[in-house]
Amino acid sequence: MKKLFVDLEKLNKCGEVAAKCSYYYHPKNSGITRLREIGQFLYICRHCEEAPCVNACPKEAIERQSDGIIKRFTMRCISCKSCSLACPFGTIPLDTIPYIISQCDACIDRSDKEEPICVKTCSISDAVKFIEIEESDKNDIYLVGKHVAVHVVPWKKVHP
Ligand code: SF4
Ligand code: SF4
Repeated sequence: MKKLFVDLEKLNKCGEVAAKCSYYYHPKNSGITRLREIGQFLYICRHCEEAPCVNACPKEAIERQSDGIIKRFTMRCISCKSCSLACPFGTIPLDTIPYIISQCDACIDRSDKEEPICVKTCSISDAVKFIEIEESDKNDIYLVGKHVAVHVVPWKKVHP
């Protein structure tokens, strides 16, 4: 089964990312933006115990879950970007925390022959693909659910 592959390393080096999205009900939806946010919090974020991003939020819209993963509650977020500025590690690119939320369902009802429109239109070449790919620690490929894979060099805590 093909997956939507998002190269976070490539996208993070390229400033603002533009890719069309076929989500019908929200014409400005950017599924790739949403996937970037999820991937960053899963694999790049240090999961700080005293998280500066959480402490900086004036709306209690960003929380550290019991498993350490940071989650932004989009209905409370006002997109003030304070969390992004407070993070000492650059985990939260400004354009990944928009006021109007986007969603991505990885176009899961698409056949393996049809490429999602984000793949065809992403402004950064080869950063978004629709391919057969498996998780690989060696190649820094990690799954985000069953239908999405990201390329990212993760932050790993080194235990003594
Ligand atoms: S952008 Fe949203 S989550 Fe971040 S500090 Fe502002 S209100 Fe909180
Ligand atoms: S401050 Fe940055 S690295 Fe720390 S938990 Fe928040 S987003 Fe993650």
